[in-house]
Amino acid sequence: MIRVAAATIAVAALIGCGAQPDAAWPATPNLVEREAFLMGTRARLAAYDVSRDSGLHALEQALGILERTEAELSTWRDDSVISLLNRQPIGNAFALSDATCRMFRVVYETVRATGGTFDPGLGALTAAWDIHGSGREPDERSLAAARERSGLRLMRFDAARCTVTRDADATIDVGAFGKGEALDRVAASGLRAPWMIDLGGQVSASGGPPGERGWQVSIAHPHNREQRLFDVVLRRGSLSTSGGSERDLVANGRRIAHHIDPRNGRPAPFTGSVVVWHHSGLEADMLSTALYVMGPIIGMRWAAEQELAVCYLIPQPDGVVRVVATPEFEKLRAP
Ligand code: AMP
Ligand code: MG
Repeated sequence: MIRVAAATIAVAALIGCGAQPDAAWPATPNLVEREAFLMGTRARLAAYDVSRDSGLHALEQALGILERTEAELSTWRDDSVISLLNRQPIGNAFALSDATCRMFRVVYETVRATGGTFDPGLGALTAAWDIHGSGREPDERSLAAARERSGLRLMRFDAARCTVTRDADATIDVGAFGKGEALDRVAASGLRAPWMIDLGGQVSASGGPPGERGWQVSIAHPHNREQRLFDVVLRRGSLSTSGGSERDLVANGRRIAHHIDPRNGRPAPFTGSVVVWHHSGLEADMLSTALYVMGPIIGMRWAAEQELAVCYLIPQPDGVVRVVATPEFEKLRAP
């Protein structure tokens, strides 16, 4: 079985415990690879194709899709669609493209389905806790003000007209769904060759290396990405991890999570990580964030009810990591 050299933890908002780096790829003429820095991470793309040229062409196309999605969604860019939306005057209906409208439909539905544990309308809260910087604990007044300005309930989505209207000065943070959407856009582009894309914390694939069941992805220790815990085999869909980061955030001397619980405006207390497989990258991305916020007790119950493929990695006081997975996730584990 060929193991994907899937990197894990990216910088900024886009993190994961995911897969750990591994030895070099096997020397086969038809394996092509590309690396690029995008979406705040070192992206790795690989494909097997009949010729090197066609493989490289396929990866070039995939890279173009990722770059265009980043240009559309990233709030690090002033001219992205999301930045424009975040700056729209209150009460102004902002028109979305078909692709963005489709994405928003799923995003709004997931906020509802996850009981608001996933809610990207929390730009004010991630700013108050300096989640994209080095972390800070806001005073109670600032926290209350940020909570008032948070939640997609403050941004009206009209699915029929494909518009979003800000009813208050709330902003969207794409940290928990941008990578998943980008990977889905690649998947929808109809690449023929078996491919795998690792965006650090989220890996999508279609097909597998010749003669293999799929791409082997290593799941790492939540606090040490060099330590491989077990492998899963990915043949389709997407594997998203929320949790352990190489970039620690500290507030008031305490390490805090990159994940805010929108229900109380505070960092989620869970200290492990959670891995989710879903046929949709967007859904996997959003669900891993929601499940991180829910924590393993509520999260496992919810995941089982929804028949989701979910695995929690729960560090114990003695340093051992407890692995708890739903039956759907167990099916992905490598023998
Ligand atoms: P992920 O690694 O996919 O779980 O995404 C984490 C990132 O999503 C954070 O760095 C924030 O940018 C953003 N975020 C944090 N908490 C939430 C939340 N409860 N719902 C939506 N986005 C969040
Ligand atoms: Mg996510």
